[in-house]
Amino acid sequence: MLLDLSGRRIVVDCGLGVTRGLVEAGMALRELDLIFITHLHSDHVLELGPLIHTAWAAGLNNPVTVYGPVGTSALWNGFLISLAYDIEKRIEDEGRPVLSDLVTVKEFGPGIVAELDDFTVTALRVDHPPVTDCFALKFEVAGRTVAFSSDTTYFPPLADFARGADLLVHEAMLPEGIDRLVARTGNGARLREHLVASHTFAADAGRIASAAGVARLALNHLIPADDPDFDESHWRAALAETFSGELIVGRDGLVIPL
Ligand SMILES: [Zn+2]
Ligand SMILES: [Zn+2]
Repeated sequence: MLLDLSGRRIVVDCGLGVTRGLVEAGMALRELDLIFITHLHSDHVLELGPLIHTAWAAGLNNPVTVYGPVGTSALWNGFLISLAYDIEKRIEDEGRPVLSDLVTVKEFGPGIVAELDDFTVTALRVDHPPVTDCFALKFEVAGRTVAFSSDTTYFPPLADFARGADLLVHEAMLPEGIDRLVARTGNGARLREHLVASHTFAADAGRIASAAGVARLALNHLIPADDPDFDESHWRAALAETFSGELIVGRDGLVIPL
């Protein structure tokens, strides 16, 4: 996800496809600046190293700061080791800046994550078992606030955390969609248990948004995301009784003005 806040471009999570997504959103990769990681599940970090490396190969020459939970440093250092051959060659042969010097990883816990120029980022530990370091994030700048649930099961403290936000981005799943997803994959019962314990049904995402008093709710991290039998109308119907504000159903490439 790309957040454009008072002229700073902020990448939130780096799942597969993030690099292409940023380019398609019109971002020059060499402008990469700030990255926030909510937790270390692969759909949030698989492309962290590749994104930074691709930006570097595209001419990145300014510092990049990666904020993430404990383990983010190890992930980045592991990526540097895995690409050591290529990185050394490009520094020697192409005169590129030393990649490890360009990137700073700052691991965070709950509370204030960063106070940068004119904005503040705060983290709330959410409930996403078996991951314990999983954080909702709130970005506040010049009187505007955006909150991200990250991955979480229904977690009422999120409502306090997001109170008064101009936009809440919350993950969501559809009960009917899960039945089909579970039927399609091999490890059905186990997968269902994980989904129900670790993610939020759409109606409950609406409850969080209503309790937080936010006017706009964007659903993302949709489960299922790729089932042609479920479209926007299903998501709207799922929230009809729990949220009456402006509902935005997320999809790749969607732009939401603040
Ligand atoms: Zn997750
Ligand atoms: Zn996820």
